[in-house]
Amino acid sequence: MIGGGLAGLSSAVVLADAGLQVRLFEKRPHLGGRATSYTLPDGSEVDNCQHVTLGCCTNLADFYRRAGAEAKIRFYDRLYFVDRQGRRSTIEASALPPPLHMAPSFLFFSALTVADKRSIARALLAIARGGGSPPNVNDISMLDWLRRMKQTPGAIERFWRVVLVSALDEELDRTDARYGIDVFWKSFLGSRGGYRVGIPSVPLADLYDGCRGAIVRRGGEVKLRSGVREIRLCDGRFECVVMEDGSELAADLCIVAVPHEQLLGMVPRELSGAGGSLQGLRKIRTAPITGVHFWFDRQVMTEPFLTLLDHTTQWVFNKTMLYGCESNGNGAASQLRERGRTQYLQLVISASYDLVSRSRQEVIDLCRRELQDVLPTTRDAKLEKATVIKEVHATFSPEPGVDRWRPAQDIDVKNLYLAGDWTRTGWPATMEGAVRSGYLAAEAVLAGVGRPQKFLQPDLPSEGLSKHWAHRAVASRP
Ligand SMILES: Cc1cc2nc3c(=O)[nH]c(=O)nc-3n(C[C@H](O)[C@H](O)[C@H](O)COP(=O)(O)OP(=O)(O)OC[C@H]3O[C@@H](n4cnc5c(N)ncnc54)[C@H](O)[C@@H]3O)c2cc1C
Repeated sequence: MIGGGLAGLSSAVVLADAGLQVRLFEKRPHLGGRATSYTLPDGSEVDNCQHVTLGCCTNLADFYRRAGAEAKIRFYDRLYFVDRQGRRSTIEASALPPPLHMAPSFLFFSALTVADKRSIARALLAIARGGGSPPNVNDISMLDWLRRMKQTPGAIERFWRVVLVSALDEELDRTDARYGIDVFWKSFLGSRGGYRVGIPSVPLADLYDGCRGAIVRRGGEVKLRSGVREIRLCDGRFECVVMEDGSELAADLCIVAVPHEQLLGMVPRELSGAGGSLQGLRKIRTAPITGVHFWFDRQVMTEPFLTLLDHTTQWVFNKTMLYGCESNGNGAASQLRERGRTQYLQLVISASYDLVSRSRQEVIDLCRRELQDVLPTTRDAKLEKATVIKEVHATFSPEPGVDRWRPAQDIDVKNLYLAGDWTRTGWPATMEGAVRSGYLAAEAVLAGVGRPQKFLQPDLPSEGLSKHWAHRAVASRP
């Protein structure tokens, strides 16, 4: 196994459970890939960026269970929004059956006008009545679809854009409509619990403690700081890997679970070059995410997290509160408690193209100004420390038609398999997508050795009227 991100770890854990001896090579000193945390020189532990899951991420939930990390994820039923004037609105499920369960919160959502709400309701109904697959959405952008559905500018800016840019890390005109529609179907319309936000109550790296044990118990090993330089093939089958120190290692089979740009530099040209089965990977572009970490000298926020409307900053996470929720205590939580009533916030800006070339200080100043709009206490508070983490190639861009460039986990090289959020899973670049790819790669491996097994978990079942519409949509497909 090459790569210790969620794709590699999930694959390794289920294959070890199935009785295979797995050797996992990760080039960095820690597991978790992009969804990890590390210690800054001053001793504070920070997530590479805040990561959230949703109730509809069934495979990630299964992976956390297998890794013994389930209890470290806390789910929130209420979502908090704030506009430029500092007005708060919340969204949560009512007792009505899906897809109507969110309707009461939506009706009282103060940041939208009646005309905005009417246009949104029409588009959501079209998604729900199509069982998540309304007609004629192939290869068009989400923005095109929204215009076709006659959405008001307010609805686009203060509703669709707010949800989708942070869910998909891309602007609406560069997002495949199918991905955008899927987000709403799976999280807000199909089932009651799909929208619930799951947030780790520990630093991200602590979620993977159980993975090493699961692999080692079966006679496998996990090697950190062990980069692979090259993958060698012979007669159309996997032969060996060449490590960064030049040593060669053979294995019965290999799963490569590294980001797609890095894979291209590791495989022979017969795969990556013109006519090769992986040449399409060059067409997959990436999008940036910027994370900003602020430590204030006092309490400035009372909600666990906030979604900002009309700002560059999209989310603010109250890390002090989120870590404090951990009942059995952890390093980061006690570090924060020791600091008394100080507060650690983490801000997230997805599709942050405009910030990539800005200096660290410019980003800090912009975010501070925005926080003053929505958290007035920050105006007098002292900012004790700030960190900006720019991930320029955070996720693959879900551009219209991108699926045609995403390879399956089982390629035309014997004993070589792929995993990674960019492989063909039907999901965008998310932790759920990465785990799905890992499970699919593991299924392909076991099928290849004549011991087929299923790991992929079903989606949340649709409920209420949504269930009826989903069945009808499936039955009417040619
Ligand atoms: C800033 C940011 C915020 C995000 N927020 C969210 C979120 O809130 N919710 C969500 O669901 N998703 C989020 N994502 C996306 C999520 O992190 C990824 O989709 C997921 O972690 C990808 O997992 P992966 O295993 O496919 O790839 P990676 O995590 O990139 O793992 C690949 C691993 O391979 C290793 N590697 C690379 N080259 C080599 C080599 N030559 N030899 C050995 N090892 C190698 C890397 O070090 C890495 O550990 C976010 C991503 C970023 C960057």
